[in-house]
Amino acid sequence: MTDVLIIGSGINGLSTAALLSKKGKKVLVLEQAPAFGGAVRTEEVTLPGFKHDLFATNLSLFAGGGVMAELKDDLISHGLEFVPSDKPYCSLFPDGKMIGITMDRQKNLETLQRVAPNDVKAWQDLTAKLGELAPHLFPILGTELPSLAAAKSLFKTWRAIGTEGTLNLIRMLLQSSRAFTEEHFSHPETKALAAIWGMHLDYGPDISGGALFSFLESIGGQEFGMVLGKGGANVLIDSLVSVIEKNGGELRTGMEVVEIIVESGKAIGVLTKNGERILAKKVVANVNPALLPKLLKEAPSTQELHNFRPGLGTMMIHLALDELPNWIDAEAKSFNYVHIAPYIDDMAITYAQAAAGILPDTPALVIGQPTVSDPSRAPEGKHVLWIQVRVLPLDIKGKSWDEVAEQYADRIIDNIEKYAPGLKQNILGRKVLSPTDLERYNPNLIKGDSLGGSHHPAQFFFLRPTPGWIRHRTPIENLFICGSGTWPGGGVGGGSGLMVAKLLS
Ligand SMILES: Cc1cc2nc3c(=O)[nH]c(=O)nc-3n(C[C@H](O)[C@H](O)[C@H](O)COP(=O)(O)OP(=O)(O)OC[C@H]3O[C@@H](n4cnc5c(N)ncnc54)[C@H](O)[C@@H]3O)c2cc1C
Repeated sequence: MTDVLIIGSGINGLSTAALLSKKGKKVLVLEQAPAFGGAVRTEEVTLPGFKHDLFATNLSLFAGGGVMAELKDDLISHGLEFVPSDKPYCSLFPDGKMIGITMDRQKNLETLQRVAPNDVKAWQDLTAKLGELAPHLFPILGTELPSLAAAKSLFKTWRAIGTEGTLNLIRMLLQSSRAFTEEHFSHPETKALAAIWGMHLDYGPDISGGALFSFLESIGGQEFGMVLGKGGANVLIDSLVSVIEKNGGELRTGMEVVEIIVESGKAIGVLTKNGERILAKKVVANVNPALLPKLLKEAPSTQELHNFRPGLGTMMIHLALDELPNWIDAEAKSFNYVHIAPYIDDMAITYAQAAAGILPDTPALVIGQPTVSDPSRAPEGKHVLWIQVRVLPLDIKGKSWDEVAEQYADRIIDNIEKYAPGLKQNILGRKVLSPTDLERYNPNLIKGDSLGGSHHPAQFFFLRPTPGWIRHRTPIENLFICGSGTWPGGGVGGGSGLMVAKLLS
């Protein structure tokens, strides 16, 4: 009999399977889609030879995470290759100003001195602060919450930075991006440079909890750069699948699980849509917690999962380009991400409009230029553009996404054209994935929520997903959960997959 049956082949399900199969467990992964990887998938969706990361593209979390540390040699020998970028991101503003953050601290200070001179000192201070806090913050991401290990880690933090330092850290964890950036910076450009990172998750500038991401990602980009997969993010999925198969594990696509079979309070296997009943000693659901009540036939213990809320929606626009965009500041061509948000108040309006079911006038744009560091993703001299639109309504008042997606994408391209004149003539092919399309690819992306559930404080850290379902265990014996709906949340990190693997080893 299968030791561990995993429902879903997202980065966390595959990480659990790879780690357990290496330990000799008999694993089986069932995936409803025709391909493995969930929100990590590369396809030629515009023109032949143009490889687009349909969803996630930035693999930095995985590259620096615990699964990579455990499986590095196995993954590399099964084809995993990363492409690092030392120019991770920049923000572009309507008046032509640009702040680009590289891995060269001195160069960044020179840029700030030119564009936002009053913020040079604050940037240096925050760089030092990340150095001071990193040894305390990063281990928490790999620790089960709540747990004795987490309590010990907090105690060590207190010993290292004292009561005042610890309280200041807690204060920052509760701050909004706006409060954090106003406290540290004085130029609107620097505030926006950091606050946009909150919008990558579901932190509008005025949402408590956004400060941590604005801080970690803006300064972290400088310290660690960014990492992409060679030839596409799928290289990570392919190598994980190979490792699992080499270790004797089995993976099957086109296998939708419609029920987790529970007998006498214990999970004993699953029922698939095609009528197969597959038994296993343990079941791991790499499934959005909000979908579990349906799989568990609305058992009383699933009641509170109905309160697990999605984050706001995302849309993807993929372009095949004849040449890179001619940005109003030409240096933007060399960065991996170009952010167009543009300022904090615009982000606040975008967030409010999306939350109210209104199509934002100028949504925040994360524009990936992967071919800058990885030319192998397009025919020679050509490029792909990865455009993530943040944030969007889950439901649009009076309309469906299928009705408006292409038109709305036109508006977004028109907006980018203002920052990159001539872009439209440069487009060879285009593929739009609306929030509804995202959910069609992967049911975990409920209504186009790219995060597997909102990351607002009431359902983050030791509260993810809900108080009765923490620590990757469930009220049902032998049933475990991983994925972005569980701690440590969204992103291509594999952290929850690693925690479940440890529980089941
Ligand atoms: C558009 C977009 C862009 C993103 N960009 C980035 C980025 O650049 N960097 C980053 O770090 N993160 C990014 N993210 C977030 C990141 O991709 C996700 O948080 C992460 O990949 C989710 O992994 P997961 O383990 O939760 O599983 P998922 O990716 O959600 O996969 C779960 C799998 O389970 C399958 N499944 C669900 N229910 C069933 C069932 N009943 N039966 C069988 N199979 C089932 C699904 O089909 C899916 O394949 C992005 C997300 C999106 C959507």
